[in-house]
Amino acid sequence: MWRRISALVRNLSRRRRQLVANCSPELIVPDFDKWKYRADRDATVLAYGRTERGGADRCDCAGCRNFRAARAHCFPPEFIALLGQLGIDPNKDAEVYHNARIAPGLHDYGGWYHFIGALDGGGDSSPVNFGPSFHAWICPATAPRLSSLVGEQVVQLEFHAEAVPWRLDEPEMN
Ligand SMILES: [Zn+2]
Repeated sequence: MWRRISALVRNLSRRRRQLVANCSPELIVPDFDKWKYRADRDATVLAYGRTERGGADRCDCAGCRNFRAARAHCFPPEFIALLGQLGIDPNKDAEVYHNARIAPGLHDYGGWYHFIGALDGGGDSSPVNFGPSFHAWICPATAPRLSSLVGEQVVQLEFHAEAVPWRLDEPEMN
């Protein structure tokens, strides 16, 4: 069953604005209102339940091992909340990739997930800032997906994280 979640997302956005008003002027308000899509959360939850491990957990390169160790420290709470609303398990990315070391101890990564649903707007959405160094957008599904999502109609949710800490006890990648 298709379920519109834009109202949920608007509520999250409103709650965020309140948080921002109460806490810190540096926080950036995620603006999901521009994103036009439908999502079947229940079907997405089932699909992620049928997948044992995501892309970063199936790869032993230093970039993926570091991402596994750093994931909990680089995803803004609002992004985790969005994944939860869509039915996506944050630990089961389709794939992540290391772009570069941007400063000692800080690395630039990209990656993506999918959820069962459809884009109403056609092409790529506007990127939404979740913080000064993290943004995400939705787009047509073109990249490899988890095996339990093969054959489903899915939307791709991509992220770009520019301040992922290096948490391995080994030399940093460049
Ligand atoms: Zn890897």
